[in-house]
Amino acid sequence: MSSIVSKEKKKKPDWLKVRLPSGPEFTDLQKIVRDNKLNTICDSGNCPNKGECWGEGTATFMILGNICTRSCGFCAVSTGRPDDVDIYEPLKVAKAVKLMNVKHCVITSVDRDDLADGGSDIWVKTIASIRRLNSGTTMETLIPDFKGDWDNLQRLIEAAPEIISHNIETVKRLTKEVRIQAKYDRSMEVIRRVSEAGIRSKSGLMLGLGETDDEIYEAMDDLVSVNCDVLTMGQYLQPTSKHLPVVEFIHPDKFEALKAEGIKRGFDYVESGPLVRSSYHAERHMA
Ligand code: SF4
Repeated sequence: MSSIVSKEKKKKPDWLKVRLPSGPEFTDLQKIVRDNKLNTICDSGNCPNKGECWGEGTATFMILGNICTRSCGFCAVSTGRPDDVDIYEPLKVAKAVKLMNVKHCVITSVDRDDLADGGSDIWVKTIASIRRLNSGTTMETLIPDFKGDWDNLQRLIEAAPEIISHNIETVKRLTKEVRIQAKYDRSMEVIRRVSEAGIRSKSGLMLGLGETDDEIYEAMDDLVSVNCDVLTMGQYLQPTSKHLPVVEFIHPDKFEALKAEGIKRGFDYVESGPLVRSSYHAERHMA
């Protein structure tokens, strides 16, 4: 069984090399984003899927600042004491969605374990603002676990975005190492509560951290048992040398096989491929 031990940097295989996005539509949108200083994860994270997603009217925005209270071993977001909450953020995001003419937006946030409400108030206000300014735009909210404070999760559920996603990120055995302050079972409970409320639920796994096939199947089965509708699987890439190393680059054929396995095990929709990020093709994950 592999584990996250090797510090040796692996060479990226050809299938992970991507062409930079181009074309008049993409260039126009890029200009709107730059001119208005809009903050999208697509842009700040230099996501390889930007051309495709923006072309399909999908974009991802991060709320509650850009400093996270957690320090996951895979994540490039800075850790520390976050700034005060910006009460104008919900309106700013809603305006950005409008300016970019986004048809399906994904909203995510840093973890705000420092706030009593876990940031749920800003979450709910952001959903309401986006709706108010963008009738017809659908939403996925990629949420934290709110440290298991179910009242905070319930506020999100009552705001009723079209999809609520929460990523387990890795298999059960590696959770402690990969998501230091998170708990596998607690994440399953988030998904269970979302599904039970009748909202479409979604989760994601990064592969290549040393997980075995059986462990991936176990994670799939656990998610299906809490009625998770959509699963995404993509290759883990090490953001800097200080982050967890890549143990294995998974071949695209293997991703295809895992997609079939996921459907067989009961997911309604599976997105699986080396460059898949949890918001990739997000508009297709609607019911
Ligand atoms: S995959 Fe997500 S972050 Fe990347 S471009 Fe698409 S919507 Fe943006």
